[in-house]
Amino acid sequence: MKRVAIIGGGISGLAAAFHLEKARAAGADLSYALFESSKRLGGSMHSSRVEGCLVEAGPDSFLTEKPWALTLCKELGIDDQLIGSNDAQRKTYIVVKGRLIAMPDGLMFMVPTKLVPTALTPLFSWGTKVRMACELLHPPRPMEDDETVCELVERHFGAEVVDRLADPLLSGVYGGDANKLSARAVLPRFVEMEEKYGSLSRAMIAAHNKMRAMAGKQPPRPLFSSLKDGMQQMVDAVTARLDQSSFRMSTRVRGTYHENDRWRIAMDMGGSEAFDAVIVATPANVAGALLEGVDRDLADDLLGITYSSSVTLTLGYHMDQLKHLPPGFGFLVPRSEGRRMLACTFVHNKFPHRAPAHKGILRCFLGGARDEAVLNLTDDEIIDTVRAELKEIVKLDARPMFDRVYRWRGAMAQYESGHIARIARIEKRVKEIPGLELAGNAYHGIGVPDCIREGTNAANAVAQTVSAAATPQAR
Ligand SMILES: Cc1cc2nc3c(=O)[nH]c(=O)nc-3n(C[C@H](O)[C@H](O)[C@H](O)COP(=O)(O)OP(=O)(O)OC[C@H]3O[C@@H](n4cnc5c(N)ncnc54)[C@H](O)[C@@H]3O)c2cc1C
Repeated sequence: MKRVAIIGGGISGLAAAFHLEKARAAGADLSYALFESSKRLGGSMHSSRVEGCLVEAGPDSFLTEKPWALTLCKELGIDDQLIGSNDAQRKTYIVVKGRLIAMPDGLMFMVPTKLVPTALTPLFSWGTKVRMACELLHPPRPMEDDETVCELVERHFGAEVVDRLADPLLSGVYGGDANKLSARAVLPRFVEMEEKYGSLSRAMIAAHNKMRAMAGKQPPRPLFSSLKDGMQQMVDAVTARLDQSSFRMSTRVRGTYHENDRWRIAMDMGGSEAFDAVIVATPANVAGALLEGVDRDLADDLLGITYSSSVTLTLGYHMDQLKHLPPGFGFLVPRSEGRRMLACTFVHNKFPHRAPAHKGILRCFLGGARDEAVLNLTDDEIIDTVRAELKEIVKLDARPMFDRVYRWRGAMAQYESGHIARIARIEKRVKEIPGLELAGNAYHGIGVPDCIREGTNAANAVAQTVSAAATPQAR
């Protein structure tokens, strides 16, 4: 029997374990062991109930458009637990000079597609609006260098759009800095659109019309999906399907060694286990450290992927305390506002099932690539900072019923300029090392569905190689 080690029990490692378990159930002669340094599985996916409200410590949902999380939920038999975001309430605000301004109708990610709302919005100056109109005339252009998001967006729409949209949106998704993130890695669709159409607005309108025609009369799908009892439900459902004897909990892996086509996994607590293949599903910088003795160049490339940290603070209120809050999903705070909060989600509007009718939940994000120091504040300092900013921005002075602070140190990979070339080098090296696969949010997408796809692909590749090695005559 072939043995596979999976290092890291976040959703990437769990998705890998689930697919190895499926292969095993289908007759593959393999077993697996899942090494997780903490006491719990799920990594940054963690939900809990506080006073009847659902509190998400990390991700609260995933993009419906990316199919891999939905597919996993179906395979796990929990698709009846899926919920969609309440898109009828989808309105997001940007803080401009301390005031909330709604993002205009027709803005797709950061690209304007409707003339009248764009012309009327107070979100942009007249200079920017004229620039947006002229953008429709941009000729097609191949991207030669690996531009940053900031450079690409500024070329099309100007610096104000970088400040008020691109930077806050990317802070929300990556905890990242638009000045450093690679356009090709983070916004590949924009790069393709520019190559084909020139104008991003024209390309977005064409894509939108095509999607509407394809969808026909079907009702639009919600932008975000989640689970009734939170993202933890996915973690629990996967865990229940795995071989329980495979878990090596509270077991930090210290190093991996590749000798005579076998892998030795050394543990922090001492001792080691031997395997035929290994899936490293930790953050890339940990993967780099673990693979230092196996391949120096690979390790250097992995160690070169930087990470940002973040803090989420969930505040629970009685609904009557929130009556002055505007409708919508929440707001984003541009860096130029000089505040610590990056974003605030009105959870009870985005997913009404997550709070009883008389309660409301605000989830605030801090940190990101430019404010690592926020992690060193005490919980009380974080809560006081956020409450003071909420008071100034949305006039919310009430004392919350409860608060929960979560710190995520080095959790979000940053796809900086050069990312695509770096990943190509990493993948080339990995292919040359028998029995090694990588999975996680550092490579081809940061979101939960991307991580599930990565874990699935890693498991399928390993299952294929170990079964091919076991039955050479079948080839
Ligand atoms: C605050 C926050 C909000 C987010 N919001 C969303 C969202 O709304 N939607 C979305 O799609 N995505 C979101 N993301 C991104 C997404 O949640 C992550 O990219 C994804 O969960 C990462 O999963 P992973 O398994 O690759 O890594 P992780 O969850 O980081 O898991 C890695 C695991 O490896 C373990 N480990 C590390 N080193 C070792 C070692 N040496 N030995 C053994 N084990 C080790 C860790 O303990 C951890 O459990 C969010 C992320 C954060 C932090």
